[in-house]
Amino acid sequence: MTTPPATDRLAELAASLAAVRHRIARACAEVGRDPSAVDLLVVTKTFPVSDVAALTDLGITDFAENRDSEAARKVADLAVLRPGVSPRWQMVGRLQRNKARSVARWAHQVQSVDSPRLVDALAVAASAGIATGERAGPLNVLIQVSIDGDPARGGCLIAESLGLADRVAEADSLRLRGVMAVAPLGMPPADAFERLAEVAARLRERHPVATVLSAGMSGDLESAIRYGSTCVRVGTAVLGGRPLASP
Ligand SMILES: *Cc1c(COP(=O)(O)O)cnc(C)c1O
Repeated sequence: MTTPPATDRLAELAASLAAVRHRIARACAEVGRDPSAVDLLVVTKTFPVSDVAALTDLGITDFAENRDSEAARKVADLAVLRPGVSPRWQMVGRLQRNKARSVARWAHQVQSVDSPRLVDALAVAASAGIATGERAGPLNVLIQVSIDGDPARGGCLIAESLGLADRVAEADSLRLRGVMAVAPLGMPPADAFERLAEVAARLRERHPVATVLSAGMSGDLESAIRYGSTCVRVGTAVLGGRPLASP
């Protein structure tokens, strides 16, 4: 039994999605990029599963969460609300090693990998998930880089990123896909994304499969697209203001 979302909310989400897609298209046009090269990842943290269901009705296939427990619950609840739909879920938040096993059950990709110990924990967890059939295949991984070197918001130092990428590439149960960053507060986003693009290019030289550059959120996606983002992570511009403070 599929419960249709409230029509008001559906219309609201359809309108904000159209506006975000318009922003993406315009930003791509300004720098001569093909908008189909920029994936829209909708960050649903703190929003109810009914919104996720509505967004799947509107054709969205990629969602992100920043907490394992909230994500695991939403994934299970969505399977009840929309049994025929299986979107790709991604982890974008800070992740403790003891959550690796759980994340490997629901995540298609983890964007927030920033330490060797987390790489190892995810490799073991994904490998176990593959062995038990909980996972169909390897866990996709992005290396999260801290542009300003401040560890407060997660991410490894730029100098550590290549070593971390090598470690992911060596794990059979993980698949290195690229890099992710959040623009630091004390720096113009363009400077941060320019620096990130250099990190991404260096990583791609060594690992040509690592083509994903995850950068840009509701407030700065145009700047990120200008510097080559292939994945914008958008929460509030699609869903509205978050009901709770969320890191
Ligand atoms: C919440 C979050 C986003 C989305 O932020 P908005 O400003 O709401 O678009 C993107 N990336 C990460 C890592 C987040 O935690």
